[in-house]
Amino acid sequence: MLTKRQFYINGAWVNPIRPRDHEVINSSTEEPCAVISLGDQADTDAAVAAAKAAFPAWAATPPAERARLVAAILDQYNARLQEFAESISMEMGAPIDFALSDQAPCLPWHTRNFLKAFSQIEWLRPLGPQAPGSAVMMEPIGVVGLITPWNWPVNQIALKAIPAMLAGCTCVLKPSEESPLNAMLFAKFCHDAGIPPGVFNLVNGDGAGVGTQLSTHADVEMISFTGSTRAGRAISKAAAETLKRVTLELGGKGANLLFADADAKAVERSVRRMMENTGQSCNAPSRLLVERSVYDQTVVKAVQVAESIKVGPAHEPGPHIGPVVNKRQWDQIQAYIQKGIDEGARLVTGGTGLPEGFNRGFYVKPTIFADVTPGMTIEREEIFGPVLCIIPFDSEADAIRIANDTPYGLTNYVQTGDPARANRLGHALRSGMVEMNGKPRGAGSFFGGVKQSGRAREGGIWGLEEFLEAKAISGYDFGLEDAAE
Ligand code: NAD
Repeated sequence: MLTKRQFYINGAWVNPIRPRDHEVINSSTEEPCAVISLGDQADTDAAVAAAKAAFPAWAATPPAERARLVAAILDQYNARLQEFAESISMEMGAPIDFALSDQAPCLPWHTRNFLKAFSQIEWLRPLGPQAPGSAVMMEPIGVVGLITPWNWPVNQIALKAIPAMLAGCTCVLKPSEESPLNAMLFAKFCHDAGIPPGVFNLVNGDGAGVGTQLSTHADVEMISFTGSTRAGRAISKAAAETLKRVTLELGGKGANLLFADADAKAVERSVRRMMENTGQSCNAPSRLLVERSVYDQTVVKAVQVAESIKVGPAHEPGPHIGPVVNKRQWDQIQAYIQKGIDEGARLVTGGTGLPEGFNRGFYVKPTIFADVTPGMTIEREEIFGPVLCIIPFDSEADAIRIANDTPYGLTNYVQTGDPARANRLGHALRSGMVEMNGKPRGAGSFFGGVKQSGRAREGGIWGLEEFLEAKAISGYDFGLEDAAE
């Protein structure tokens, strides 16, 4: 078992002030794979103080130099991608091939996109010809607290720590206590890349401890959070006293509108996308809305696809799906499946209990409910497991109504061969993102939702701007700037 009790503060690995052990569990075996310490107020204070002390020099470091140092993290990361993928796989249960092909590469992808967008930021610009001598300056917001979940752990670290550092902020990362090991490796890469002491700090902890301490800290100017809507609400309330900026990426209940004119691969693509990462994605297309004329055949096909998906241990190579992260999630998913049965949805494959051949590990059967009706619990609430709800619809207007009738609004999906309809739905669906016919978000785009999915915009130029503040200056002498060049 790995021993990883230290925190990364002010450029060094330090012992917790008061150790509080927490076991990280291998979700494939239910055995502890590492022990970390959960931080206390004094650890959080030390990390925030280091970030505060480092802020003036880092904010004053020329942007090109910050970009060079952040790009050096990428070199470290790329050289040790295998090690990184193995740690994600062990602690949160992503099968190793998926961790290598999808989870771990998130960081290089986002970093490259951020570096491109970074060159477009106008740090100082004239307001316009109507207002001579008026300037708009972009400044880093200050010390930022970054709180991340376990499901796409490095994706979230990349979407927060990279733009924060590029923007000139200094940060304290509190990764999920379920998946701290990959975050600790990231801290090591920052160190080896030469990120100056205090610019990036890491304190492990839980939500009630370090999470709340960061959210309420007077010296933290902003919290960037990804996780449950429940925690997002708690953080917003905790942060209200100090009026810090709070950006939230929360849960989802994505609708996937499948029309009779969809392409032949649409059903398979839709089911696989739902089951990917064992359904533990906030943007999972968890409600498949199907045009009634192709409803029965779609249900049959969806069942075939789900039954072709194998479940297996995270360390085994192959295209299977792994276990869910922990016992709490497993229990919650089981309760949702039971609720679906009790409320009268038609269970067409999967169901409660461990899949055949398993007696330990947090494995869940890929499960599909047909004839789900709007308002059922499984249609309203985020299950965060491999459970798909199929709902028939009669018209485009009907589909839009069902899709939008949710407290969430992260990603919606459309499967149609009619480009005019696709465009119409791009306008009509209430969500931060809409994906047509399996086309993924483009490089340089952002990730973010509306309503109770949170309203952050992470990625690309928008994701950098979240860590910046605009300052309006009147009476600025641009002539002196020109003379200095
Ligand atoms: P969680 O909200 O329990 O935990 C997320 C992080 O927040 C962890 O680091 C946790 O320690 C911390 N935390 C928990 N309570 C806190 C509090 N009161 N104050 C401060 N920090 C707190 O969620 P989880 O179980 O880790 O992740 C699953 C949830 O996250 C799902 O609902 C999923 O939809 C959501 N999620 C959303 C996105 C997105 O981008 N929208 C991405 C990933 C996960």
